[in-house]
Amino acid sequence: VDAMLRLFVALQLPPEVRARLIGLMGGVNGARWQTDDQLHLTLRFIGEVDEARAEDIDSALRAIAFAPFQVSLQGAGLFGDIRKPRMLWAGVSPEAPLAHLAQKIETAMVRIGLPAEQRKFTPHVTLARFKGPSGRVDRFLAANDQLWSAPWTVERFTLFRSHLAHSGAIYEPLATYPDEDHDDES
Ligand code: ATP
Ligand code: MG
Repeated sequence: VDAMLRLFVALQLPPEVRARLIGLMGGVNGARWQTDDQLHLTLRFIGEVDEARAEDIDSALRAIAFAPFQVSLQGAGLFGDIRKPRMLWAGVSPEAPLAHLAQKIETAMVRIGLPAEQRKFTPHVTLARFKGPSGRVDRFLAANDQLWSAPWTVERFTLFRSHLAHSGAIYEPLATYPDEDHDDES
């Protein structure tokens, strides 16, 4: 049986942004905070594919060009219900250039035969997940409502392999695009 890879495309974050986010963590009951290595902004979840398909995905991602753009952290939110949250996140704005890049990736993935993404794209950086009861989530959201960071420049995106584990997923960067070691071959 062919080995399957669980893949997703995401932005890595600059060290100062990760440090800022790590500094916010704490004070929420039941939160499983993300580690420095886990922080990212997902552009396209792909899921389980075989190695041949992973090669196609890599080729398709290599062909994507985009103009660098700036974003910053902005605000915080949650997925799920305030009494039963699934996840706490930090917002990133402006949304338009992120959505535009995500759409380019989406188009490339559909072109090589992956099923279209049905969910609306909501740019966010996951800060914490919840498996059981939670508390003080409202306080965290109120405290970080005005979250803001200096802008940073997005020049590259990364294909990650996700290794699911009970202790939390491990995200392994496989390749970054555009490839720094190659000039545009078009
Ligand atoms: P776990 O599933 O064990 O909670 P995880 O969600 O961090 O761990 P993955 O499921 O491999 O790990 O997800 C990798 C990334 O893709 C995460 O940022 C996750 O939020 C995102 N993601 C996962 N599934 C989807 C999906 N169906 N649609 C959009 N994004 C997704
Ligand atoms: Mg998941």
